[in-house]
Amino acid sequence: MTQHVEQLEFQAETHQLLELMIHSVYSNKDTFLRELISNASDALDKLRLDSYKDKDLHVDTSDLHIELEVDADNRVLTVRDNGIGMSRAEVVDLIGTLAKSGTAELRKKLNEAKSAAGDPAELIGQFGIGFYSTFMVADKVTLTTRRAGETEGTRWESTGESTYTIETLDEAPQGTTVSLHLKPADEDDHLFDYTQEWKLREIVKKYSDFIAWPVRMQVERTVTEGEGEDKTEKTVIEDQTLNSMKALWTRPKSEVSDEEYKEFYKHVSHGWDDPLEIIPLKAEGTFEYQALLFIPSHAPFDLFTREHKRGVQLYVKRVFIMDNCEELMPEYLRFVKGVVDAQDLSLNVSREILQQDRQIQMIRKRLVRKVLSTVKDLQGATLEEKPDQQKYQTFWKEFGRVLKEGLLSDVDNRETILQVSSFASTNSDEELTTLAEYAERMNDGQDAIYYMTGESRQQVESSPHMEAFKAKGLEVLILTDPVDEMWVGSVPEFDGKPFQSVAKGEVDLESEDEKKASEALREQQDKDFAEVLTWLGKTLDESVKEVRLTNRLTTSPACLVGDVFDFTPMLERMYRASGQLVPETKRILELNPTHPLVTGLREAYDTRKDDADEGKVPELTETAELLYGTAVLAEGGELKDPARFAHILTDRLTRTL
Ligand code: ADP
Repeated sequence: MTQHVEQLEFQAETHQLLELMIHSVYSNKDTFLRELISNASDALDKLRLDSYKDKDLHVDTSDLHIELEVDADNRVLTVRDNGIGMSRAEVVDLIGTLAKSGTAELRKKLNEAKSAAGDPAELIGQFGIGFYSTFMVADKVTLTTRRAGETEGTRWESTGESTYTIETLDEAPQGTTVSLHLKPADEDDHLFDYTQEWKLREIVKKYSDFIAWPVRMQVERTVTEGEGEDKTEKTVIEDQTLNSMKALWTRPKSEVSDEEYKEFYKHVSHGWDDPLEIIPLKAEGTFEYQALLFIPSHAPFDLFTREHKRGVQLYVKRVFIMDNCEELMPEYLRFVKGVVDAQDLSLNVSREILQQDRQIQMIRKRLVRKVLSTVKDLQGATLEEKPDQQKYQTFWKEFGRVLKEGLLSDVDNRETILQVSSFASTNSDEELTTLAEYAERMNDGQDAIYYMTGESRQQVESSPHMEAFKAKGLEVLILTDPVDEMWVGSVPEFDGKPFQSVAKGEVDLESEDEKKASEALREQQDKDFAEVLTWLGKTLDESVKEVRLTNRLTTSPACLVGDVFDFTPMLERMYRASGQLVPETKRILELNPTHPLVTGLREAYDTRKDDADEGKVPELTETAELLYGTAVLAEGGELKDPARFAHILTDRLTRTL
């Protein structure tokens, strides 16, 4: 008897997305089985753990396994597990929603890709579709499940179009059964006959051999009985386990093929890409553990969202303990996937215990160092033009922004992170530079590493702050990731060379000789401009904290700079965007004493000094405002009162005609 049948709609566009995913991306349809077995294996892990922790959960865990069943006549393939199962609510939540929170994000990106020159296929490839990959091979999927400890079951059914049905069952075996009503085979479309024993065997061996639970199937076998004349052949049906169940991380690297590692990576990461780098490691001695880590080749779409789950899987003596063990991987390495199997922890460990466990801390330290040294090796390969040289570039493009977070949070490894980081610079339009390379190119007498932060390369390059640096041929790092704003303020130096912003503090780019030569001129300028600077300071008091002369400008009349420890405008905006209250930082207006606008302003002021000081010369006040406004605009900033700026400017232009 069934009850409470409901027909529910998928989220808008799910069907469309599904079609797109199935037809445009996943040419390898065999992988649907890997997804189902991977889900079943996770469900068995969870049940074993729950039954261990919850003594009231009376379930038989003596024969946890996965079963494949074929009904060739009706073309139905069933994958069954006796794992944790799902409640009705979980089915709606987990199965009724394609790719969960990712869907909205995916849709947004697809729309962006349509308008830009992006490739939607590559985009979709970043989003695993898990359970839904079954619709690549089936035109109807039925899932029956009962959660361990509950009495009622749930049946979910869909043809992968816009709706699915869900009903409550009075009875159902504990665990999950997924039945696929297979589409007709079409080998040209890589759609094979998944009722064939050899095909299923091949797929399990290829994609799921390492799964720790037996994947069984009933097979027909011919046996010979009797001897000589009495010999008869008989067909018997027997259960066979199709996978070797060997935990990959316990096997020496030399015995594991790349293919096996790749498939295991897909299982632990729920990913569809190949790993960029595979990192097996092992510790013996006081506390033993084995680990198998992976650096993915693509950043997941949610790397910068709250939903992103960090950390590797924790096993204790081959028994799965938890997913996303954050205690084993710092935030800035949240893209690392894999498994850690510790020998000496209790199976009963909780998150609270882990947080204080000295062993876990030691393991984490070692994992971090190992990941960083792997990145360093990739970088080394780049320098030596080894076959791996592309890998570092890929790594940096995908994860550089995340790794740089470690410059703030992991002081112990700061030096290494600085070493493996790459930055855009004025030295090359395309190639990134390491700090060591920058240091080698430093001019004689240059003692600081110059940088400028901003929102884009173009904005930084055309900023007035760069003028003198360009004129002197000094290389400037162009830092445009939001995280750059955060770390450059707190990392004092690299290899003894301090970081210095070209938009902060006073710039002194003249050599001793140049200084001597221009000393007299400077003194004269200071004298000539003293009064107009004081007047400007008063007039622009609401916007700036000081007005002074500079020699950092060659073509622009003015620019804005901050004091060394001031927030930059971008950092202020970032803090505000995250909801924090930040007082407005007033900056310093620097003027180019050789620019005709600046000298003209001085002369105009000098002739009407007294009236100007009393605020009685609106043209002069307006010129000061325009000067300030153009400095804001030139660095890509926003004016507080753009309408007023436009008004003064239009007025001026009209008078020039
Ligand atoms: P993913 O496995 O990548 O999370 P899926 O779409 O394959 O995405 O599955 C969604 C969720 O549904 C899983 O995370 C799991 O919670 C649940 N699920 C799927 N298959 C099973 C199963 N056989 N037993 C229990 N829960 C399952």
